Amino acid sequence: MALDEKREKSASFTPMMIEEDAALRNGSRGLSGQWADAVGVRPRTTERHITVHKRLVLGFAISILALLVVTMIAVLLSVRFEECSTAAAADSPARASGNGSLPGAARLNHDAGEPPGRQEEAPGEEEEWQRRRQPPPWTQLRLPRHLRPLHYNLMLSAFMENFTFCGEVNVQIECLNASRYIVLHAHRVHIEAVQVAEDKLSGAVRVSSFFLYPQNQVFVVVLNRSLEAQRSYNLKIIYSALIENELLGFFRSSYVLHGERRFLGVTQFSPTHARKAFPCFDEPIYKATFKISIKHQATYLSLSNMPVETSVFEEDGWVTDHFSQTPLMSTYYLAWAVCNFTYRETTTKNGVVVRLYARPDAIRRGSGDYALNITRRLIEFYEDYFKVPYSLPKLDLLAVPKHPYAAMENWGLSVFVEQRILLDPSISSISYLLDVTMVIVHELCHQWFGDLVTPVWWEDVWLKEGFAHYFEFVGTDYLYPGWNMEKQRFLTDVLHEVMLLDGLASSHPVSQEVQRATDIDRVFDWIAYKKGAALIRMLANFMGHSVFQMGLQALKKVGKFVNIQEVMDQWTLQMGYPVITIMRNETADNIVVISQEHFIYDIDAKTRDPDLGNNSYLWQIPLTIAVGNTSHISSEAIIWVSNKSEHHRIAALDETSWLLGNINQTGYFRVNYDIRNWRLLIDQLMRNHEVISVSNRAGLIDDAFNLARAGYLPQNIPLEIIRYLSEEKDFLPWHAASRALYPLDKLLDRTENYNIFNEYILKQVAAMYLKLGWPTNNLNRSLVQAAYQHEELRREVIMLACSFGNKHCHQQAATLISDWISSNRNRIPLNVRDVVYCTGVSLMDEDVWEFIWMKFHSTTAVSEKKILLEALTCSDDRNLLNRLLNLSLNSEVVLDQDAIDVIIHVARNPHGRDLAWKFFREKWKILNARYGEALFMNSKLISGVTEFLNTEEELNELKNFIKSYKEGAASSFSRAVETVEANVRWQMLYKEELFQWLRKSLIH
Ligand SMILES: [Zn+2]
Repeated sequence: MALDEKREKSASFTPMMIEEDAALRNGSRGLSGQWADAVGVRPRTTERHITVHKRLVLGFAISILALLVVTMIAVLLSVRFEECSTAAAADSPARASGNGSLPGAARLNHDAGEPPGRQEEAPGEEEEWQRRRQPPPWTQLRLPRHLRPLHYNLMLSAFMENFTFCGEVNVQIECLNASRYIVLHAHRVHIEAVQVAEDKLSGAVRVSSFFLYPQNQVFVVVLNRSLEAQRSYNLKIIYSALIENELLGFFRSSYVLHGERRFLGVTQFSPTHARKAFPCFDEPIYKATFKISIKHQATYLSLSNMPVETSVFEEDGWVTDHFSQTPLMSTYYLAWAVCNFTYRETTTKNGVVVRLYARPDAIRRGSGDYALNITRRLIEFYEDYFKVPYSLPKLDLLAVPKHPYAAMENWGLSVFVEQRILLDPSISSISYLLDVTMVIVHELCHQWFGDLVTPVWWEDVWLKEGFAHYFEFVGTDYLYPGWNMEKQRFLTDVLHEVMLLDGLASSHPVSQEVQRATDIDRVFDWIAYKKGAALIRMLANFMGHSVFQMGLQALKKVGKFVNIQEVMDQWTLQMGYPVITIMRNETADNIVVISQEHFIYDIDAKTRDPDLGNNSYLWQIPLTIAVGNTSHISSEAIIWVSNKSEHHRIAALDETSWLLGNINQTGYFRVNYDIRNWRLLIDQLMRNHEVISVSNRAGLIDDAFNLARAGYLPQNIPLEIIRYLSEEKDFLPWHAASRALYPLDKLLDRTENYNIFNEYILKQVAAMYLKLGWPTNNLNRSLVQAAYQHEELRREVIMLACSFGNKHCHQQAATLISDWISSNRNRIPLNVRDVVYCTGVSLMDEDVWEFIWMKFHSTTAVSEKKILLEALTCSDDRNLLNRLLNLSLNSEVVLDQDAIDVIIHVARNPHGRDLAWKFFREKWKILNARYGEALFMNSKLISGVTEFLNTEEELNELKNFIKSYKEGAASSFSRAVETVEANVRWQMLYKEELFQWLRKSLIH
């Protein structure tokens, strides 16, 4: 699953309007137109291995066997595919006696949101367990282990005219220990009938009662007699449910084609939502085979993990698609869709058919061709890298308008939100192309790592997500060898990004224990993805990349994980990360003291929280180190630091040479030095920065800004470091600086003296802005490969220049917008469109806002739609911002997942921060109802709206707000409080120090 990346690529800073710009507005119109309880080390559970779908041969054998068994059951029990809604109301399978029964045809009469089928618990059952002094098996958080599903036969009928569906599921289950109970997951489905039969001829096992237990989202069948161990049974359930207008389970969304609204139904089951679509053993450990059939109107088509085997047309305009049986798999990456999309296809050299399905107009325009093309190449790449062929006969990529995540890796049917897969080459920027590419690389990695090899329980999600996130960079390097993604871009986009989050006392270990279904969504956060990826990269680097690859191949083949976990335990079970401090001995130059401590932005947290303050946090740190002087750097040496403080002798270290730690920033930690060493490093950067590697230049910038933010370093050091940037021709250090400046900018953007900071940054940017200039025309696609570094650098510098109020940059943006409005031809270079739109909206009058708003409605290209919408949030007109906020909740205007971006972007705008914060509080009930279950979206919203609040008053508002809404999103809110507290604290302690230095420096 790919979360929606928050890669800061658009005009992240709200353009600062300097006085001269007022002229633009008034004059040259011409336009008129985790949590806290997981702190510390916790004991491991015993299940820390990875289940492996055994070799293909074995899989086939099992499939064939299962197929035979199922055919036998089908024949013996005459399981037919009946239209379940009527079957349920009629006589068909034995309905449970007593309290299980509810009126039939429930598919039309239960309300959305309300769990249907509130069958009460069987009386007496609870008491019997009380007598036995044991908790009933359905009250436990995990499914009881006495049953195991072997195969599912799932037959669905989808009624798109009233958004309901009904289903009949036949589960072949193996009984491991005798029991009278069958407990499996089901949530928000209406159970209509249940039948249990023994495999062979012995016939039915009478059902005494059945009921839903919504607290655990399980369904319980109580039998008249015990199921016997070592036997297998068939469980048949007939049920119905809604195709709801939400984001999880089997849900619907829509799009407009030729003025007509069309609907589609699609699934999102990961992590725990398959149970909303059919009763099942919804834990990843229960791998089974699936045979799915979907009945739908012939005007639609249906898709699932496997190809359609046969389609049976009926006279009344309905058709039933029978899909081939899947290999063994878990429920969370099962999928289906009912839509009227069209497709284009390609075939890999090993014969895998890849199709991209999307709305017909997008397919016709060729918007899916890029994705299709790289998917074919990536399948070949992974087959070669893992030395395991792709396991299914086909892979469909489905582009849907609405989705809670960027994408989901369903085996053979991966689902993507349109913005992360469709690409119109004539109007997409490089960063958009990069986003699309990386999401596809990620999901394809999961076809092996996740789908073929699956973590047994959710605490190990970081492994599959960390790998897939890491491979986004490795796979993109395969497609674009010159881009150096793994060595460079990884640092800014993953390492620096996650160290911001993981430096909070409210962070959590990357491997988190979860039990309750409603908590499982929590594990899909940036800590799991990005810290997971950063740890895996650290591992790959100290193992060596080829050994690492061999380890992965062995894992795929044998299913054993090469003891990585033992090596990594300290890193995965402790939250946070260390800061290493290297201090030179004043008297003997070649002796250094190396110490480690837990890095925390809010140092006071250690005194408030004894757990944090007791110094128990220690890591085994592979510290690489090198010594350099004006023209030369030594080769690196590795020191394993495992104590609080250690003395080491460093050869060739003298008075004029500097030390550099964490070579190429492969390690997941920060490095601090004594001030003298920082000064020597700054000197080196000013004289000849190329002695230090690109990744270390970026690393020094990020470490310095963050060490200063947390109070480990004087505020002027990071600002002095970025002075060398006027000579920096590489993209990465600029990108690191831009990202590090971003939170600082947000801390200062509403302060009185903001212009001093602004002026200083502008001064550092001016020379490079002048040197690089603006792109003159749009990039030829064939040049993308070569031009990436240069174009991305130019874009970054233009963004900084326009954001901090470079006059020329503002003029240029205004001219480009005016030209567009007067000629109605958009000649703005693709790579800087977002910067130009945002700058234009913020500087120019309301007509420009209206113009962009109109373009937002009329464009059909998703990449363009996204940046137009974001540009609207750049206005400094509070009425317009309010209007936009209110419109954002109208799903017809702004898609559900985009509404969050609108609110967050308004909060980044200093003129809109309080509006977004107020809007968020007023609409919290609506927002929480809409996104609460898709926890990742909710926490993205909460952190986006609150992270730049920085006054006492706002902190109190936040605390009071949380008090009045106790339920839900607790970990996001505690993170928010900590962040705002740290912001307030920084303002109090360091703001003045920073301004003082800036004033002094600007005079000289
Ligand atoms: Zn993923």
